[in-house]
Amino acid sequence: MINREEIRDLAEFEGGDADCAISFYFQPSRPSNKAHREQAILAKDLVQQALREAEKNGRNGCARADLQRIFEIAGEWEGHRSQAKVVFACGNRNIWREFDLPPQLVKTQVFVNRRFRLKELAEILGVQPRLRLVLLDRHRARFFDLHLDEIREREALFRPLPRRDRGDGFEGVDAGHAERSVNDEVLHHFKNVADSLKQGLERGGFDGLAIGCQNSQWHHFEPYLHPYVKSKLLGHFAAEVGGLTEEQVRQQGDRILKDALAQHRHEQVAEVLDQARSNRRGVTGLRRVLRSLEMGEVQTLLMADNYTAHAVECANCRHLDAHMVRFCSVCGSSTRELEDVCDAIVRAAIRRDVELVYVREDPEFDHVGGIAALLRFRADGKNRKVA
Ligand SMILES: [Zn+2]
Repeated sequence: MINREEIRDLAEFEGGDADCAISFYFQPSRPSNKAHREQAILAKDLVQQALREAEKNGRNGCARADLQRIFEIAGEWEGHRSQAKVVFACGNRNIWREFDLPPQLVKTQVFVNRRFRLKELAEILGVQPRLRLVLLDRHRARFFDLHLDEIREREALFRPLPRRDRGDGFEGVDAGHAERSVNDEVLHHFKNVADSLKQGLERGGFDGLAIGCQNSQWHHFEPYLHPYVKSKLLGHFAAEVGGLTEEQVRQQGDRILKDALAQHRHEQVAEVLDQARSNRRGVTGLRRVLRSLEMGEVQTLLMADNYTAHAVECANCRHLDAHMVRFCSVCGSSTRELEDVCDAIVRAAIRRDVELVYVREDPEFDHVGGIAALLRFRADGKNRKVA
């Protein structure tokens, strides 16, 4: 899987007039669907179309070999790919990068441009915290890690055998005592599980947590969670420890991540609107977002997922301007028109380590222009207190 450094390298890439930066996103059908082959055929059609376009635009020389190579590997993917895939290529600069992605792309697409298309990549990677799942009962705990659609079972924890099973005390006479000590041991087991989660989090092993257990056990276990661990809890669900396959655990994890993400988006939108209304740590609208981005103020950038806008970019210093001016207001060099400013914004956000949040179908957010930013501080010094 792709890492942060590699994404930043891709965001830094800047092709010259003679270069073709090709970005190819491949989304397979789910295995349950028998249309794998059709997806690969569709991908090949798209690549062929891109070849024709490149030819028409006189970019044949730089794009042809890479598109041809993509056309061939897309053919090889027929029928046996469950992961999505992205390829970034620029033959002139000797760049060829292939990465697996979780199969969550909206569709298969190919882009030929001066830079790499990173919007879809940023969208997928931005919403993929590493989730630890625990299946828990009075005797056992199974641990799983889920990241980028891959699930891996880790170590398990067992509580020591109850004392009565070891033969001390005997039923009838000492039953009450035995019952109490069993309960003590169960609680001790819960504490062990909670401790192991705390250590895992301190070691940076996960970003979010989900617990599966019988509903009746949840209330006994929850108080043992360290507050810091609890702040990472994204959800809990009813489950039997032995009753779930890895695939079922993954499905539970996916569902919890999806809900948590929707909730996170919702909260971020509410906060940015609130902060912008009170003129504090929030700005809305393209002009102000671009300015804050260049000032290095932005912590989180929110964009409607279908957002699109014209803008100009300085050919020299990369300054972005929502006004269609011919000369850069920063350095005076000539500007070039961007049909869609989104890609330039995404690249700027990646280079500056800004969190990207894509907002879906939110009329209130669309009403403020479909683009907004939460700021870490305001460079103009207003409301320094809240920074
Ligand atoms: Zn400039």
